[in-house]
Order: sequence, then structure tokens, then C-alpha cells
Amino acid sequence: MSERTKRVRVRFAPSPTGYLHIGGARTAIYNWIFARKHKGDFILRIEDTDAERSTAESIEGILDGLRWLGIDWDEGPYFQSANIDAHKKAAMRLIELGHAYRCFCTKEELDTKRDTAKALKQPYKYDRTCRDLSPAKAAEMEARGIPYVVRFKTPDSEDTLVFNDLVYGPIEKHYDDIEDFVILRSDGSPLYLLSNAVDDMNDGITHVIRGQDGLANTPRQILIYKALGMQPPEFAHMPLTLDLRKQKISKRTHGEVVSVQFYREHGFLPWALVNFLVLLGWHTPDDREIFTREELIEAFSLEGVSRANSIFNYRPGDPKFFTDPKAISINAHYIRTMPIEDLAGYVKEELKATGCFDPEYDGPKRHWFLETLDLIRARYHTLKDFATLGRAYFSDEFSVDEKAFAKNILKHPDLREWLPVLAERLSAIPIWDQVATEAAIRGFIDETGASSGVIINAVRTVVTGQSVGPGLFDCLVAIGRERVVKRLKNAPLLIDNHLD
Ligand code: GLU
Repeated sequence: MSERTKRVRVRFAPSPTGYLHIGGARTAIYNWIFARKHKGDFILRIEDTDAERSTAESIEGILDGLRWLGIDWDEGPYFQSANIDAHKKAAMRLIELGHAYRCFCTKEELDTKRDTAKALKQPYKYDRTCRDLSPAKAAEMEARGIPYVVRFKTPDSEDTLVFNDLVYGPIEKHYDDIEDFVILRSDGSPLYLLSNAVDDMNDGITHVIRGQDGLANTPRQILIYKALGMQPPEFAHMPLTLDLRKQKISKRTHGEVVSVQFYREHGFLPWALVNFLVLLGWHTPDDREIFTREELIEAFSLEGVSRANSIFNYRPGDPKFFTDPKAISINAHYIRTMPIEDLAGYVKEELKATGCFDPEYDGPKRHWFLETLDLIRARYHTLKDFATLGRAYFSDEFSVDEKAFAKNILKHPDLREWLPVLAERLSAIPIWDQVATEAAIRGFIDETGASSGVIINAVRTVVTGQSVGPGLFDCLVAIGRERVVKRLKNAPLLIDNHLD
């Protein structure tokens, strides 16, 4: 074996006919990890030979999605459409080698044969009429300009073709069940099956890791390899991902939730999505759920890929979960635990996009910014939460959560009077820290005889816009005296406006 064939070379070969689907992203991720694990090459090949359905926008979307996920490729993007001559040459070589032939049967003739088979309730298979035309006869018909397709000559054998799929195990296919399939159309264009195999050969691919829907092509592709005297690559097919009703997940039935872009727009950290997707169909013996990049490369193996279809646990219309709850909980895990400096970079983008980033968060207020993120992140599930649930920390333009009103937190009739007085007290304390704010508020509670729950919940709601959150005194210190005082002073207006 030469050095070139020994080095692991894998590829992701999307057809650019739409957005980057999470199932496609998962295939890309498996290939990428496999390449990194074996210190091999990960190649990106855009399979754009279907000129009618391929779009530049889709190519951009796929590249952009992969870059966002952090799935970096070593070679490419190569474009299948640039290799059409090589595909045609391979077909001609197969004819020369006696493994393919020109077929001059007309569409009408084939349709009649197909209809007859149907009427007799027999499976249709091309009857090999042209297989044994003499080369001279075929050359003469070609010279006369009679249109033809090129068909692969499936070996005449009672035997079965056997190959070992690295996930599904040994797979057998009777030669008798493989018709003499077309590899070049009558207009001279190659069929996808041929192009895909020839590109894999020319790219030196050692392992084809792809979706289970590719399995139907594998026996014919192995025949093409063998006929050209090439060693077929290893194949590993990944289980399908289905919804809870066991349907394939698609944009048509499930909407945007199946595209990578959706997660980007919904405040996902790219690595959290990678981590989630990798678990759709693969697991470690101890069912571990969280992996750093290095841990994943270390732990991943094709043996851990399951043959059973994986389930994307998404219930359309569920008000609680906008996607699979596991995806959300993995994202929340990373938000809670990732290095705060890294998180700050993502939150910055989120705050900028929603008009509440202060450039000082990168300068004099850096320390405050990091501490505040660390304070509020524990309950957040997505990056969006920083600009919505956490907006009151970064801006005066925030709204109070409707749930707080629904819980009657601001209902007590004396709050309109109490909160501005409390504002005065807080404006006068000498040091703005947890101890002093707590002492002032507790003192006020004792004085007025109000219930501490009423005051504490009301202050939290008015100042942070939320009825739940971290310890109140930590929140007050983070938000700062000036904003706290102003919000408590304005509380009567807020309460009045809401009652109206
Ligand atoms: N272009 C094919 C697809 O998008 C790839 C099949 C393969 O990986 O061999 O489904």
C-alpha cells in the first residue's frame, strides 16, 4: 500500500440545493472528527452537477455554516462540476476494459418492456439487449449518429457481492439484483453514481462516511472501483435521524429547526450544536454527553455509531422548547461553564445586534462586564437570553416580564409609595455593596412592617425586569446605584402604566 492510500482521507460531499441541514452537518462532523483523530485529511467537495438545483447561495450557506460550527477542511472546496471530463473518461475506460457498453435501445423500446413487465407483475430489469453487440456493430451505430447511453456491465455471476460496512456490518447483494445500470446519459453527461465514485477515487478517499441513504449506491460503486482496478474505500453509513413520529426530518415538515442557521439565529454556541449533533447516532459506552473538542476526538469511533435511527426529539408548537430539549440543555451547560472571556465574545455580538453594547465593556467596564455575565449566566439557555432576560443589566430600555405582573408581584397598594422612599434610602448609603444594600432594604422592611417577600420581589422585578434571578443584592450591585435608584423612583409610573 502506498503512503497516499494509507493516510486517512475523508470527505463531506454536500449537494448545494438548499440550506445546511443538521443531518448533513452531523455527517460533516463525523468525517471531520475521524480525520482529526487519524491525523488525516478532511476534504470538502461540493457535488454541484445538478445544475438546475444547485445554487451559489446554497454553496455560500453551506460553507458559512461549516465555518460557524468550526468544522475546518484541509482541502477544497472542490467542485464536482469541474471534473465532468474525468467522469466521462472513466466511462470510456470502462468500455475499453470491457466493463461497460453502449446501449442504443430507445426510450420507447424500454418503456414497452417496462410496461410488459408491469402487466405480468414481474420486476423490471434491463434485458441486456445491447450488452453483446459486437464492438464493430456498436462502432457502426455510433458512427451513424444513433444516440446511446453507456451502461455498466454487471458481472454475470450466481454469486453475491459482499462488503463490510463499518456501521451496518456485512452487506450482501446478489449480482442478479443489480441491473446493467446507466453511467452516461445519451447527451454524454455522467450519472451521479459514477461521478461520486470517480471523484472519490481521484480524491484518494479512504473512508466514505455518509448518510444511510447512500447505502443503496454502494454495491454499484464498489463494482465501478473494481472494474477500474481500484481498491474500494471503506464505507460507513450513518443512521437516519427521524422525528418522534419516525418521519425523516425535513424543512418541509419541520421548518427552520432542521437548518444549522436556525441555531445560529437562536443563540446557540457553535460547539454546543456540534456536541448535540454528534450524539444523534453515536455514544460512548458510558453515555457521556459533554465533550471538549479534544475529548471528542479522543472518544469518537465508528464502532460507537448506532445502527438504530436516531431521534430528534422536537415537538412542533411546544411553547417550552423551540428545539430538542437536549440541544437546549447542552447549550445551557456551555453557557454556564465556558471560560467567561470566551462567553463575553459571543455576548458582545448579541448585545451589539440588539443595540445594548457599550464599547466601554471592552475598556474600563471590562471587569464589570465579565463579573455581570458570570452572575447572570447560570439560568440562561441561549445567548439571546443575555439581551432579553438580562437586558436590564445593559440598558435602560427593557421591559418587565409579563409573568411578574401575572404573579401579582407589583399588586400591593403601598408599593407605589414604598419604592420611591426606598430609592432615597439607597441613594444615601455610603458604600454600594451587597452588605450595605441588604442592610438598607432590611432596615426599611422592619420600619414599614411590610413583608420581606413583597419588597424583595418587587425590587427585583422593577430593577431587573424579571421576577427570578440571582441573589437580589448581587443584582443591585451589578446594575449599579444610579440605575437602581432611578428605576425605584419610576416604579409608580411603571405600576400605573401597567394597571391602565
Ligand atoms: N451529494 C450527496 C448528498 O448530498 C453525498 C453522497 C455521498 O456522501 O456520497 O447526499
